[in-house]
Parts: sequence; C-alpha cells; structure tokens
Amino acid sequence: MMKGFTTKAVRYGENTCPVTGALTTPIYQTTTYAFETVQELRDVLEKKSEGFVYTRAGSPTQKVFEEKVAALENGESAISFASGMAAVSAAVLAVAKKGDHVITNNAVYGSTYHLFAEMLPGFGIEVSMIDVSNTRELEEHLKDNTKLIFYETPANPTMNLIDIKKISKYHPLSMVDNTYMTPYLQNPLDLGADVVIHSATKYICGHGDALGGIIVSNAEFIQRVRPILRDFGAALSPFNAWLLIRGIKTLSLRMDRHCENAQKIAEFLQKHPAVKEVYYPGLKNHPQHNLANKQMRGFGGMIAFEMNSYNDAETFINSLELCTLAVSLGDMKTLVQHPGTMTHAVVPGEKREKIGITDRLIRISVGIEDVEDLLSDLKQALDKIESSRTT
Ligand code: PLP
Repeated sequence: MMKGFTTKAVRYGENTCPVTGALTTPIYQTTTYAFETVQELRDVLEKKSEGFVYTRAGSPTQKVFEEKVAALENGESAISFASGMAAVSAAVLAVAKKGDHVITNNAVYGSTYHLFAEMLPGFGIEVSMIDVSNTRELEEHLKDNTKLIFYETPANPTMNLIDIKKISKYHPLSMVDNTYMTPYLQNPLDLGADVVIHSATKYICGHGDALGGIIVSNAEFIQRVRPILRDFGAALSPFNAWLLIRGIKTLSLRMDRHCENAQKIAEFLQKHPAVKEVYYPGLKNHPQHNLANKQMRGFGGMIAFEMNSYNDAETFINSLELCTLAVSLGDMKTLVQHPGTMTHAVVPGEKREKIGITDRLIRISVGIEDVEDLLSDLKQALDKIESSRTT
C-alpha cells in the first residue's frame, strides 16, 4: 500500500498510539528508560529484546525519523545525528582508521573540506582531494589501502555533478552526501553507492528550525557507525527528531516548488547582462545536463552564479530587499550568500579559485515564495549594478 514517495513520507514508521489514540508521533523527551529488573535492562543492551536504554544511543522519536528516511532512500537501515557534520564525520570514521587512505571530491561543503584537509590527517588518515568526476585522476589515486570515495552531487557550491553509477564501480566504499537533492530527487543507493548522508538541517527539515544529520546504508554498515554515535555522543535530540519528522512529510511538495522556482530564476539570471555565468543543472547549457536527466528526478533548488567582479557580487547581495543574506540552504525562504567568504571561507584562497569558488560566485538557495516576487527582487538588485555602470 505504501508505494509512493509522499505516502511513505507522510505515514511510514508512524502508527496511531494504541494507548491514547495520538495521531502524531510523540516527542519522547526523556534522557533514560526505566526497567523492572536487571535482566530486562541487560536483554535490551545485549539486543536480546527490543527497547531503549539511554537517549544518546537512541529513542523512539529518533527511530521513527530513521526508519522513514531509510524507506525514502531505499536503504536497509539509518542512524541519525545532531547535525549533518556529525553524520559526515561518523560515516568517515566508521570506515577509515590510522594508516588508511581516503579520497574526496575537492568541491564539497566548507566544513567537510576542512574535515578531510585538516582533521583526518591529524588522526593519521591519508587524504587525496581530487576531481572525482575525472575517472583518470581517480584511478591514479586509488591504492590498496583506499577505504572510501566521498562526494556530493551536485557539489556545494559549484553545482558540478558526479556520475554515481560510474564511481560506484570502483572498489572502495562510495559515500554520497545527498543533501542538495534529497531522497525525493535522487537515490544514490539505487545507483550503486554504498552509503548516503544528509544534512537533515536543510530540505528534510525545510523550516529552518532544527539541525540534524542522517546516514543510510545496509544494516551491517549502520551497526559499524553505532559505537561512534555512542562514544562521540553527537545524538539527535528527541525534539529535533520530531521537527524533522514533521518537516519530511511535506518534502515532495516543497521540492516541486523549489525546482519550479529555481528553473525560472536560473533562466532569468542567464539573460541578465550583469550576470556572467549561471550554474544550474536544469539549464540546457550546463555541461552535465544529460547526466542530471539520467540520475536526478529534478534539478533542485540550488543555483550558483558568477558576477563580473567581487564588488558587483557584494553590491548585488546588499541590494536585495526580499531574499535574505544567510548561510544554510533548503529553507522555505530564499537565502543568498557568498561562498568564498562565508560557507567556504575555510578553503584556502588559491584552492578555492581552482575548484571554481571564485570571489565573484554567489549561491542562492531558492525558496518556495511566489516566483514573481523573487524575480522582481533579483531584477531590482541586478539592475542597480547595470545602472551604476552606465552613470
Ligand atoms: N553537507 C552539505 C552539502 C551541506 O551543505 C552542509 C551544510 O551546509 C552539511 C553537509 C553540514 O550540515 P550541518 O550544518 O547540518 O552540520
């Protein structure tokens, strides 16, 4: 009965409470669970019976969220975290130990870049940061001790795509950060990837009011991650789990609108004389438009575009009246930011340029407002740049 994406998003893993009849999953706002006997508590700890012991290791509200996302990603199992970065770091540490080698795409979210560039080498893990879409470069970097290939597709913020099917054929585990696409628009596990990660803070939440992260994979991999959640301790709170369950129910409706608005905005930006280049996979001239059509079910709500100079970029952002200057993405409100000095400021300057994060680059997370209002705000801000040039 639960075949469709939205049916699963609304109903999967949630039953009416048999005691009270409550329709909505309750927030189990408790840190610990009480038992009658020592044996009962030990049985749960030793996995001989179902139950919960301590909220850092799991709670009924987290479990509903995990089961729902696993179902939407067509995965066997999932584990949730306090943030997307907690999920990314736990997934990597579940695979790579001192002496191992890992590969990551060089265009990734700023903190993920820093995790690979600075943190992992500090733990004795060797890291290669390359263009994963270039399979020749990838093959040159593969070694016997390479444990994983990590990437985002589309990449934050450049909007470059990576062919999931192609990369999944290589022997190390392939891990895809699917935050930009969400399970509604792309299912990496179906294309052969081993592990999917989300910053649930973004589209899954959708309301800009809760941090969260989640890893989806097979049951064996999720079991490997559990001790990291337990010992590093970045547990999702029951309240945030509840907010994420609420958010994900409307994911498909919101994503349809994000996609529709973003396509219109990308086409508008492409025609405006103040804009030099637009990066959006829904545009026919995006170099990987065909790949987007193959592996994605929509082009998403994220756009990157380049102005002619840093000054133009700053003037444009400062001139916006409706769109909001803020980092983060996936909110119902349209958010605009400058990756080079904000989300990706931790990437060293010369590396940023090489990856394509120039000082002229702007990122828009297109919201679900009426697109005419968004277009008129963007137009008035861009027109200011054009008119300052002619006066
Ligand atoms: N992955 C991607 C693609 C992101 O854009 C972000 C944050 O912007 C993260 C992971 C980290 O998520 P969080 O802020 O929930 O830790």
